[in-house]
Amino acid sequence: MAATATARVVDTVSAARSTIASWRAAGERVAFVPTMGNLHAGHMSLAALAAAAAPRVVMSIFVNPTQFGPSEDFAAYPRTLAADETLIAAAGDVDLLFVPEAAEVYPFGIEHAVRLQLPPLARELCGASRPGHFDGVATVVCRLLNIVAPDLLFLGQKDYQQLVLMQRMIADLHLPVELRMGPTHREPDGLAMSSRNRYLDAEQRKRAPALQRVLARVRDELRRGARDFAQLTAQACAELENAGLRPDYVEIRRRGDLAAAASARDEERVVLGAAWLGRARLIDNLFV
Ligand code: AMP
Repeated sequence: MAATATARVVDTVSAARSTIASWRAAGERVAFVPTMGNLHAGHMSLAALAAAAAPRVVMSIFVNPTQFGPSEDFAAYPRTLAADETLIAAAGDVDLLFVPEAAEVYPFGIEHAVRLQLPPLARELCGASRPGHFDGVATVVCRLLNIVAPDLLFLGQKDYQQLVLMQRMIADLHLPVELRMGPTHREPDGLAMSSRNRYLDAEQRKRAPALQRVLARVRDELRRGARDFAQLTAQACAELENAGLRPDYVEIRRRGDLAAAASARDEERVVLGAAWLGRARLIDNLFV
């Protein structure tokens, strides 16, 4: 539990920095949970982990324009600040909520922003169908880390490729922060919680848990000793189609760096998948 139940809400870099500086002056460590808002129990579980790990927790809500492709849902992305603040107040884990406008995060404008370019892994898996997405994530997370200067950064396993890429960015840029992972929070039927689940209509929502079910079956077969990765993933895509989803990919990779699965020890594998269902692009992953 954080020291205060009500989070202070700020929208400028200077206000965020001066609050955080006062904590630092008192010797308090800071944990950071970046989000795009429309908060759900998955986000809040990261805040709870952060509060257990450090006396001060900063959460950001920022729908980052540089990580959306031109045909993606930037304009439609759910913005629910009042409800988000209610959730944060009820949980009491967040000390500072940073809710900047784009002009605050990108003081020279989006077109003139310094941008980061991640290594080739950013063009694989989700990056193959979302060109520039992870570079945009790196471009904003690096800024947020520079603004907040946290000791600890909490990211969710649900966006596992993002997490691996952010770990790489932190190591490669020598950023003085420790990354910690929170487990994927799920609905009772297994669907990973996501702000984009609200794009599903009632009928699609019933089909959506198929992604997790299919990935779990691949995981279980791997645990039982199956090693024909190409056959396993092809069959998984066929099962997703049968369930009414449009598969983007199902892949088996090495957990640490998302290199090819063949290079991993059996217990070091991760099964990742993405599929479209109506307007939503669902992603999920399971460790073997
Ligand atoms: P987003 O608001 O989607 O950018 O997510 C912000 C953070 O919350 C990221 O680190 C996500 O990985 C994490 N997150 C999103 N959904 C979940 C979930 N269902 N369980 C745990 N963490 C999540």
